[in-house]
Amino acid sequence: MFDKILIANRGEIALRILRAAKELGIATVAVHSTADADAMHVKLADESVCIGPPAARDSYLNIPALLAACEITGADAIHPGYGFLSENAKFAEICGHHNITFIGPKPEHIRIMGDKIEAKRTAKRLGIPCVPGSEGGITDDVEAQRVAHEIGFPVLVKAAAGGGGRGMKVARTSADLSDALSSARQEAKAAFGDDAVYLEKYLEKPRHIEIQVLGDGKGNAIHLGERDCSLQRRHQKVWEEGPSPALNDAQRVEIGETCAKAMRELSYLGAGTVEFLYEDGRFYFIEMNTRIQVEHPVTEMITGIDLLNEQIRIAAGATLEIKQEDIVLSGHAIECRINAEHPSTFRPSPGRITYYHPPGGLGVRVESAVYQGYVIPPHYDSLVGKLIVHGRTRNEALMRLRRTLDEFIVDGIDTTLPLFRTLVRNADIQNGAYDIHWLEQFLAAGGMDHLEP
Ligand code: ADP
Repeated sequence: MFDKILIANRGEIALRILRAAKELGIATVAVHSTADADAMHVKLADESVCIGPPAARDSYLNIPALLAACEITGADAIHPGYGFLSENAKFAEICGHHNITFIGPKPEHIRIMGDKIEAKRTAKRLGIPCVPGSEGGITDDVEAQRVAHEIGFPVLVKAAAGGGGRGMKVARTSADLSDALSSARQEAKAAFGDDAVYLEKYLEKPRHIEIQVLGDGKGNAIHLGERDCSLQRRHQKVWEEGPSPALNDAQRVEIGETCAKAMRELSYLGAGTVEFLYEDGRFYFIEMNTRIQVEHPVTEMITGIDLLNEQIRIAAGATLEIKQEDIVLSGHAIECRINAEHPSTFRPSPGRITYYHPPGGLGVRVESAVYQGYVIPPHYDSLVGKLIVHGRTRNEALMRLRRTLDEFIVDGIDTTLPLFRTLVRNADIQNGAYDIHWLEQFLAAGGMDHLEP
């Protein structure tokens, strides 16, 4: 097992990693930018190192500074969390060269899944169902037109290096395609420094359903059920729940087993998420994330398995002890991502939290690194924290969520809490009757207009 883990992240996930490490008896090193000197993960870690100025490229993405921090503190492993360097194959490789264990998959798997064209090719080879689309990258308009006519409009132009919903453009007709291609290319070039794009059939009303997997890199792999992340704004997840209200047990077992089998074939190491769109009873692979995800607590709540603990143990060379038959889904969990944003305009609202009172009680979990008096810096994502509730049934979880949202107080900044208070009372949400466009349509129709802008 490791002696000391350096946590190459900030915010709630840094705290989550720190808690898992402490429970395993492993010492922790926090790193932070100058803007995060007062952060909770810094206060709670055994040691901390300032690695640079506020801009992420100079601190949390600064590889030499992170390696130097390992050197100074004697950390023998790095946990990258999500975002930042978590899906950077080069970084994973460099860690290896310095005898530091990167707590994550093998670099080759990060690389394959980081290139969405390559990821789709691999998924297809492993028997995972994919969205119909171009075989590889699309280089010219003529080829794009040919493929689009083959799969049928509407089509989606997507960036091979994509992430965070950027570099994605819909073309409804043949006439839109050329514009969609050039604007997706431009956006991809600006965001990722890579303008490779590909085409996919645009699904009109799918749900986003993803499968959590764990593998030990020695050919053992299991799945831990699904999360439904269909409630999205600008392709960003807002509310996640599991099990999905749209699946039955047979579908769940089938898609889960397909993913687990693929991971066994890859000898995948660590935690991962295979993401699908789901429409009319069929699954379509869109991508795989080779890291722990923001919404991982949903799975932890319904399986009782500590994913961070497993991730760390596997990275240290342990064999996966949990067998597929040990995974028994129990009850229902819902997670709300509470952001420091206005609940209807989504204008960012960094600043000081003047009063903070999180909810509590049976089946309630708050993953947050904020505290009363804490100042949310403007330099990073706007996540204040995640509220996760668990109930024996979906209805119980919904009632518990309603109760906890009403208890939650965050004063001094705007948060998206009022959005969730509205959603939890909405009939479509209560019925589980929503697809990936539902939230945008709800907002466009003035669903949150009862709030002052
Ligand atoms: P990113 O890596 O940028 O998040 P994804 O491929 O995971 O990109 O897609 C993000 C979201 O975009 C999906 O959850 C879904 O809402 C939408 N999306 C992606 N592909 C399609 C598609 N073929 N048809 C319709 N919507 C899509």
